[in-house]
Amino acid sequence: MKYAEIIIEIKAREVDRVFYYIVPEGLEDKIRPGMRVTVPFGRSSRPTEGYVTALSDTAETSRPLKEITALKDNFAALTETGIRLAGWMREKYYCTLSDCLQCMLPKFVGSRVIKYVHRGKAFEKGKELPRKAEKQIQVIRLLTEKSPIRQDFLRNEYKISYNTLKSLEEKEIIEITEQEKSRDLYNTNLPQTGRPHTPTPEQRAAVDSIISDFDRKDKKPFLLKGVTGSGKTLVYTEVIAEALKRGKQAIVLVPEISLTPQTVQRFINRFGSLVTVTHSKMTDGERLDQWKKARNGRVSVMVGPRSAIFAPFDNIGVIIIDEEHEHTYKSENTPKYDAREIAVKLQEICGATVVLGSATPAIESYYKAEKGGYRLLELNNRINMRLPDIYAVDMRDEIALGNKSMFSIKLQKAIRETLEQKKQIILFLNRRGHSTFVSCRRCGYVMTCDSCSVSYTYHMKENRLVCHYCGRVKEIPEVCPSCGSGYIKYFGAGTEKITKEVNRLFPEARVLRMDADTTKSKDSHRQILNAFARGEADILVGTQMIAKGLDFPNVVLVGVVAADLSLNSSDYRSAENTFQLLSQVSGRAGRADSRGRVLIQTYMPENYCIEYAKKNDYISFYREEIEFREQMNYPPFSRICVVLFTGEDEKQVISSLHHFAAVLNFYGKGKDYTVIGPGAAMVSKIKDRFRHRIIIKGKDEERLKSYVFYCLDKFDKREDTKEITISVTINPTYIP
Ligand code: ADP
Ligand code: ZN
Ligand code: ZN
Repeated sequence: MKYAEIIIEIKAREVDRVFYYIVPEGLEDKIRPGMRVTVPFGRSSRPTEGYVTALSDTAETSRPLKEITALKDNFAALTETGIRLAGWMREKYYCTLSDCLQCMLPKFVGSRVIKYVHRGKAFEKGKELPRKAEKQIQVIRLLTEKSPIRQDFLRNEYKISYNTLKSLEEKEIIEITEQEKSRDLYNTNLPQTGRPHTPTPEQRAAVDSIISDFDRKDKKPFLLKGVTGSGKTLVYTEVIAEALKRGKQAIVLVPEISLTPQTVQRFINRFGSLVTVTHSKMTDGERLDQWKKARNGRVSVMVGPRSAIFAPFDNIGVIIIDEEHEHTYKSENTPKYDAREIAVKLQEICGATVVLGSATPAIESYYKAEKGGYRLLELNNRINMRLPDIYAVDMRDEIALGNKSMFSIKLQKAIRETLEQKKQIILFLNRRGHSTFVSCRRCGYVMTCDSCSVSYTYHMKENRLVCHYCGRVKEIPEVCPSCGSGYIKYFGAGTEKITKEVNRLFPEARVLRMDADTTKSKDSHRQILNAFARGEADILVGTQMIAKGLDFPNVVLVGVVAADLSLNSSDYRSAENTFQLLSQVSGRAGRADSRGRVLIQTYMPENYCIEYAKKNDYISFYREEIEFREQMNYPPFSRICVVLFTGEDEKQVISSLHHFAAVLNFYGKGKDYTVIGPGAAMVSKIKDRFRHRIIIKGKDEERLKSYVFYCLDKFDKREDTKEITISVTINPTYIP
């Protein structure tokens, strides 16, 4: 007798294991691991969907077993790799197997079928129909002129009913055929445009190193550090071409498709119909169809956001993660996976070569490269050999000069010159989220928590300052503690305000704005960027949406309106984020023949992050930043775990969290864990639910996790937490 191990598609901890079923004789030849099946489940033997994870000749159970009812498809929906990955993810991210499957598999919605009506065998006999059969006669008349005709056309244009067609079909006067139609987002059938560039010696060297890894047994991920405009994309496409030649497949992750349409297009240009593109705004049907193409081998390259890491390929040769430092690679929903971690696991499971690319690698990634965990490859030259000139503009001088505009005199002059040259300008507002801080407009002093070295966040409602790490609260001072000026206030500027200011100062300039407000519809990103590429505007104003991957040859000036907005966010990574954003956005200037110019407006030009961004000096920035991290015991020197409590009764949330803190302190005594807080979350209330959180730091991720979960378990047994939702995040992309 044959048995199957099966995961049940039910999201509950109690059924989060494999169940044994008997494979009935009729299915023995057809069943394979990875297949979707229907099985009777539970006491009532309700038909339930499940997945076969393994087949065996014995079953480790003493209970009587039931039989599999049916196979749902004639192919294995899960790959072998997928099955192994799910088992690993469940342990790593504290989720159920069913959660993991949900990441890997599309919703099996119906496929889009187009029906065609043809002349049938007995078409000639259609004259024999009674006069009354008006509609049937009409169909015959139409088919005499043209055959086949789409069924939906007959229904919509001529109101031909299903019954009419059915009775014609029964008489064999017509014949109906079906054709499955793929729901595609991108046209990949266009002819390839031109020959690919010949790699420069620098690019060649990087490509060769990566390719030589294909056959190695002791693989390590590559960190490809290439300055903006150094041609990383060509390195990726050359490597992929080689993988395809060897019959393997490739996965390319990009931060967000809608923000990187040009990058995506380059893969389509190179590999045509071998590429499929996924997207976070796809419908279930579109997602299913792209998934199917990958599963049945019709495409070999999957380009997409983080979820594309689960592309159902059988033989993955290479995984590329572009802009690897981006926070979007980490999922914020269960399972809270990190696509970079999954990639490294895939390297182990199926021998894929992993390439992480960035102009500004994450501090933690570069640290890994230094310690030998990654192999470092560098592209130090721009293709056009010219990096832009970057200047910092000290905004404290502007106040002294009596200029109250948000554009410095220097930036105004540069905009005017660029408009006269008929070149293009990008104005960038460095803004993440809604955090606001309080600073002195005269000397630039920023209110900062002494214990945490992060800025206080301004809470408008209570008109107070709060440290989001330790929860400390402070009144806003009347005068600046540093210079005594009364001009101390919270900072806040939006892209709309900037656009208005441009219109006021340069009424002749044509302006496009790209931010969350102007990009609500599905295709709006691409439309705005295309319009700008066609030269329909002189100035593009935007948030970090416009910082990434854009290649506009006519842009020669980039203005960073307020560099400090992200520098003063209450996150230990604010310097890293700011450096990355400034480098990325600076990289948009002067990518073709003309030299680019970047003006960074700041109240703190002497800050190391601005200093090094100005010099395009990643390494020096890294050295200072890693020292700060070590001093403060922030990652990579520690791991951070955030436990968030939410509930409708704020008093109860706070008191519960204090009890949990006591449990943490009790079991952590004498060990090297640091507990910070409890404190209000960055957003302290959402939909009438109050949010408070506690941060725990520890040296080792696995030990930190077991400590926190052990404490939660102890806490759970003592406390009534029915009204409270608890969520745990390891190494969050931001502290909630
Ligand atoms: P990055 O992603 O490193 O910022 P890109 O891949 O966007 O850089 O390349 C920058 C520009 O240089 C693009 O316009 C690209 O077409 C061009 N390019 C890349 N490699 C070459 C090459 N070997 N020869 C000529 N042009 C190239
Ligand atoms: Zn603090
Ligand atoms: Zn001051």
